[in-house]
Amino acid sequence: MSESYDYDLFVIGAGSGGVRAARLAALDGKRVGVAEGHRIGGTCVIQGCVPKKFMVYASEVSHHLKVAEGYGWTIPEAHFSWKSFIECKDIEIARLSGIYAANLAKAGADVFHAHGRLKDAHTVELVGKDRTVTARTILIATGGKPWVPDALPGIEHAITSEEAFHLSDLPRSIVVVGGGYIAVEFAGIFAGLGVETTLVYRGPNILRGFDDDVRAHLAGELERRGIRVVLGCQHAEIRKEGDRLISVMETGQSFESDQVMFATGRVPNTHDLGLEAAGVTLTEGGAIAVDAFSRTSVPNIWAIGDVTDRMNLTPVAIREAVAFHQTVFRDTPSRFDYEAVPTAVFSQPPVGVVGLSEAEARKAVGPVDIYLTRFRPMKYAFMGLDERTLMKLVVEPESNRVLGVHIVGPDAPEMIQLAAIAVKAGLTKAQWDATCALHPTAAEELVTLREKQPVLDMAG
Ligand code: NDP
Repeated sequence: MSESYDYDLFVIGAGSGGVRAARLAALDGKRVGVAEGHRIGGTCVIQGCVPKKFMVYASEVSHHLKVAEGYGWTIPEAHFSWKSFIECKDIEIARLSGIYAANLAKAGADVFHAHGRLKDAHTVELVGKDRTVTARTILIATGGKPWVPDALPGIEHAITSEEAFHLSDLPRSIVVVGGGYIAVEFAGIFAGLGVETTLVYRGPNILRGFDDDVRAHLAGELERRGIRVVLGCQHAEIRKEGDRLISVMETGQSFESDQVMFATGRVPNTHDLGLEAAGVTLTEGGAIAVDAFSRTSVPNIWAIGDVTDRMNLTPVAIREAVAFHQTVFRDTPSRFDYEAVPTAVFSQPPVGVVGLSEAEARKAVGPVDIYLTRFRPMKYAFMGLDERTLMKLVVEPESNRVLGVHIVGPDAPEMIQLAAIAVKAGLTKAQWDATCALHPTAAEELVTLREKQPVLDMAG
């Protein structure tokens, strides 16, 4: 039956999710084709998580230099070369993209460097290649792209994260717009690199949806790191005056800067995919509508990752790909379990979270026990730095289960990956406490929290 098609599986989009699905199927001996209009690797590798983390590493060095002085190091005036950083970053990204491409080839998948557009439920046009291919199963994994308010006067002067990865020069000053992951991360990156940084967000505090203690704590820490955080504030216009940009706000305030970066969310990349021709339906928000197994409204067409706008994280797209492969090619219907997915914001200091916020937990189970501590990281003891780490556990009183863990401070993402094992396993606070502390670490606080709220400020 499958012989009547060119491919058993054709994947549109070679990002984290698409590549994983393609490789798994190809390694099973299926005939697999992949279309990618840009570079192999997708948002995560090319213009997301990976280059962003390199930028965070570069940026954090300025903080490490300050810490070093606290420990007696004399450091001659340090200089940062944006140009040489960008060159190194681009070389590494090209290497990683090459590995993705090589792995696809090694697995036996055909890669077409072309935009894939559906002509019908089994046919994909490779745009610009004057070619169509047919497949029994099609997987759409085209990711997302930045969204900006197009109607805002002067929006054409603003950049998004995509351009931020390729700026020819580091600006002297920047206004970063938004209060989500990308805004907070890039504000930290620029500030650490010595750029005068203003973060403007329309809401009452950054990181809507995160635990309120995390939001308040991080906003304070960002300001301590020199970021001007302006809340309750939205653009009315961006005016260009010579080389400078004037952000005119609805409040009447205005901010002058070299660059304005909008990080106001991302939208599913559904443009020009021929979804209508194939009969694939969208959600109200414009994502590809799928069931719990990632099947679209057309039985042989599936979709995973950011284009479905479920939980837009790389490891989630990869797990969705694995579940898709199990369901379609291993005859084992599988769905990804979205509970207790850990997440990190690579702000400076970073945030790590798994499970429910205090507000979410109260909504889900009623009253909860809160264990919370704030302390100065030991590393900063000699520096007169007032930076604090926040750790918070949300516990269900009846079952004693730890429902949520929230950390703001150095190494929070590393800690939260491991804490996620315990939260996912449904361990109780008593089981956390039965785990012996490892001293001296920050993480030991997680197993030595004894006092319920009212909060004891350990920093004293
Ligand atoms: P988010 O959805 O996280 O945040 C968007 C921000 O823009 C919100 O603060 C939102 O405000 C604000 N906003 C939306 N519309 C407007 C507007 N018209 N004017 C002013 N502000 C506006 O999006 P991001 O772009 O930061 O990131 C996209 C997604 O990518 C994330 O949600 C996450 O899933 C993923 N990501 C994950 C990372 C990680 O794991 N570390 C890193 C980067 C991205 P409001 O809150 O009021 O709606």
